[in-house]
Amino acid sequence: MGLLDSIKSFFAPQGRSDDWAMWLYVRCKRCGAPLAVRVDLRNEPSSDYESGGYVLNKEMMDSKCFALMRATVHFDAQRKVVSQSIENGDFITAEEYERQLGN
Ligand SMILES: [Zn+2]
Repeated sequence: MGLLDSIKSFFAPQGRSDDWAMWLYVRCKRCGAPLAVRVDLRNEPSSDYESGGYVLNKEMMDSKCFALMRATVHFDAQRKVVSQSIENGDFITAEEYERQLGN
């Protein structure tokens, strides 16, 4: 192992630090602007006593027309997405998001 490798491994986090991150990709219904929002699955969803899982209410705003979108995402006890809905917008995939950005 070279010196650089040992420095890199020294700074590498134990396990991926972003294990708890989930990205929501949405598109504004009014102007069509795509938006990516990071969700911290460890801290943001709150317990949903009805289902025994979790629920996340997320408000987001695009940077074009500043329409407020409200996403509601339901998770099971393992924090897997069960259902999701959004007001004033549409969910899109990561690929659609990248494409709309022109990447
Ligand atoms: Zn918009």
